[in-house]
Amino acid sequence: MIGNDPGEELGEIAEHAILIHTRDDFEIAVRRMRSGDGHLLPVLDVSGMNLPDVDQSVDVGNGWPETAIDSIRQFAARRLRLAPWLRESSRPDLRLLAYMYVHDRELTARYDAVSPAGFSYGDLLPETKLSQLTQRLCAAGYLHATFFDCFNGCSACHSTRLNVREECPACRTSDIADVRLLHHFRCANLAPEEDYRAPGEKLTCPKCARELRHYGSDHETAGNAVKCVSCGYIGSEPVVGFVCLDCSTHFDAASSRKVRVFNYRLSEAAMDFLHSASDAAAISDSIFGISLPLGLLQQIRAACARGDDFLVAEVLYENEGLGLKRGSRQLAASRAHFRSTLAAEIAEFGQLVAGGSIDYVFMPEHSPDRALKRLRNAVARSDRTLRQKLAPELRIFSKADLVA
Ligand SMILES: [Zn+2]
Ligand SMILES: [Zn+2]
Ligand SMILES: [Zn+2]
Repeated sequence: MIGNDPGEELGEIAEHAILIHTRDDFEIAVRRMRSGDGHLLPVLDVSGMNLPDVDQSVDVGNGWPETAIDSIRQFAARRLRLAPWLRESSRPDLRLLAYMYVHDRELTARYDAVSPAGFSYGDLLPETKLSQLTQRLCAAGYLHATFFDCFNGCSACHSTRLNVREECPACRTSDIADVRLLHHFRCANLAPEEDYRAPGEKLTCPKCARELRHYGSDHETAGNAVKCVSCGYIGSEPVVGFVCLDCSTHFDAASSRKVRVFNYRLSEAAMDFLHSASDAAAISDSIFGISLPLGLLQQIRAACARGDDFLVAEVLYENEGLGLKRGSRQLAASRAHFRSTLAAEIAEFGQLVAGGSIDYVFMPEHSPDRALKRLRNAVARSDRTLRQKLAPELRIFSKADLVA
């Protein structure tokens, strides 16, 4: 570990940190964050360029300042609090959690016109595809989300780089103008002021051809309207439409792709998980493609501590061909109904743990065949109560599959 000497050898510091001396080094740092264990090293900017997202900008004019050495030491201490399998895991979700823990950092969204998504969490991150990761980690209780903004995206290419326009409701051109309406009392005509006015002449009603003489006695203004230059439509309100700056697709607000963007921080439960991962039974790193809900993890830990056998079933809803889109409100409602029925059905022999896109059943059971049969029956019965069938599939894991 690094000593107190401010004139410390650069070579030794470089083993414990990612140093950025020049702009080119930034790209190298980004690559290092995304491979191996580079995501657990502090990124120190010694270039004097004040680069964004680094852990510390360091002025090394008079040798290495104590604050930088301190920071490197703190990173090392936090790395050591993580179990080796967590530090070395190549799973994106665990890499992200370990990164946030060791860097003591939240994922903070900011507007980013360069990115088609319209926002970014910065480049110095262990993973590039964050949105599904963060959703799953949130659903499983590892991350707390706070709302940042809602983005409208292109219905075709999802880009948020859009021209937001006021449009004619009839022909959807943006070639519209604000006009003042005049009301002629005698014939009740209501039309834009320009329609009453021939160039250089007095106001004449286009409907009854009478001259308008006195404002207030024979005519009045009746507010503003929009008039379409292209098709002549006149109405009180324009509609909002979008043209994608990336692919030129034209669409309206109803068909825009709305993306709610959040900032994320580690939950208390995630901190507990990260701290205790070294001394409790390690949950096998590779068997689940997604993060386990903490409720399930606690059940598994408790069973391991007692030396009990158990089964875990994944309840998968990704059944194609049912016409239910992933993330749709209908699917969410069907799932909620299914879950509550199933929880009651299995109460005697198992416990349902809700997850993100997958739910789980934990069964402290010594005869797997019997447990499985009961579970399959309960799933079938619960599905029969739904109008829109989910036909969920089960994947079964034993203790040996899950615990290293
Ligand atoms: Zn587009
Ligand atoms: Zn029009
Ligand atoms: Zn008139």
